[in-house]
Amino acid sequence: MPQSERVDPARSPIEQVDRRAAVGGATPDQAAFREELLARGLLIDSGVPGLYGRGGAFEDIRQRFDALVSAAAAPDQPETMRFAPLLPRRQLEASGYLHSFPHLAGSVFAFEGRESDAIEQHERASRREDWSAFQRMTDLALVPAACYPVYPALAARGEVPSGGLVVDAGSAWVFRHEPSQDPARMQMFHQRELVRIGSPGEVLEWRDRWSERGLALLRRLGLAAERDFAADPFFGRSGRMLAHNQRQQELKFELLVPLGGIEPTAVSSFNYHREHFAEHYGLLFADGSPAHTACLGFGGERVVLALLFTHGCEPGAWPAEVRHQLWGSV
Ligand code: ZN
Repeated sequence: MPQSERVDPARSPIEQVDRRAAVGGATPDQAAFREELLARGLLIDSGVPGLYGRGGAFEDIRQRFDALVSAAAAPDQPETMRFAPLLPRRQLEASGYLHSFPHLAGSVFAFEGRESDAIEQHERASRREDWSAFQRMTDLALVPAACYPVYPALAARGEVPSGGLVVDAGSAWVFRHEPSQDPARMQMFHQRELVRIGSPGEVLEWRDRWSERGLALLRRLGLAAERDFAADPFFGRSGRMLAHNQRQQELKFELLVPLGGIEPTAVSSFNYHREHFAEHYGLLFADGSPAHTACLGFGGERVVLALLFTHGCEPGAWPAEVRHQLWGSV
């Protein structure tokens, strides 16, 4: 067992987990930023790395930014859809997510057993022992990206109309299993997503126009945002090839902002999926050809963190122009 995973009986299991994550964890700047966020009540610590509550000031900024995205999206006349942060497990299985990102997925298990099992489960849990033997997989998984519930919902309607459509999936809770002490790497956070379904030309034009819009939006808030091609964190050896292809085909852009890491941190991404989701879910035009899809997402918490990191942890002292963008004439 590696040194960092050795059990120290003097510490609670929560502290053990916390200490392990810190070993490979944050840069000094990220660690200092996290401490300040917690000290000021902007974030509320749960004891588990990457799981936080949000204070009122933090949440206010997130919602103000969300409103700016809604305003920027208005010309697209998007159709609004909202979903729970849970996905039918069958939809996750159909999406290919477990092939590409098995390390990030989360599924819901629940108790299924007799009364004696419940007693044993409780006793083991009380002793902080493993009680997973009494848990069975349910039909639910945690939503890994805000756009995932959109594709099956559209496919269930039947054929994709000519000209396609834009869907506003709102600011949705999403889960990524990647515990970290970097405050910008949360296990559950908000993604503000929009989705475009249409022909390849319509979808690409929309994604590229939005990457310009997104860049302008972030720069108006005083963020030193830059755009770059990117790849998703695909799993394993075959994943490296997928990431290589994704970069080479310029399928994914990110907007990156300095956030205390060695490299700038992505706060937004613009993804062209080609016919991937159409093939998995059966999103077809009337002539039987697969629709193409693209999505864009802003990491709600990451944008707030970038603002706090750039302008300081007292929003009242931010530059007037930034305050005006977010709060109007205050
Ligand atoms: Zn998406």
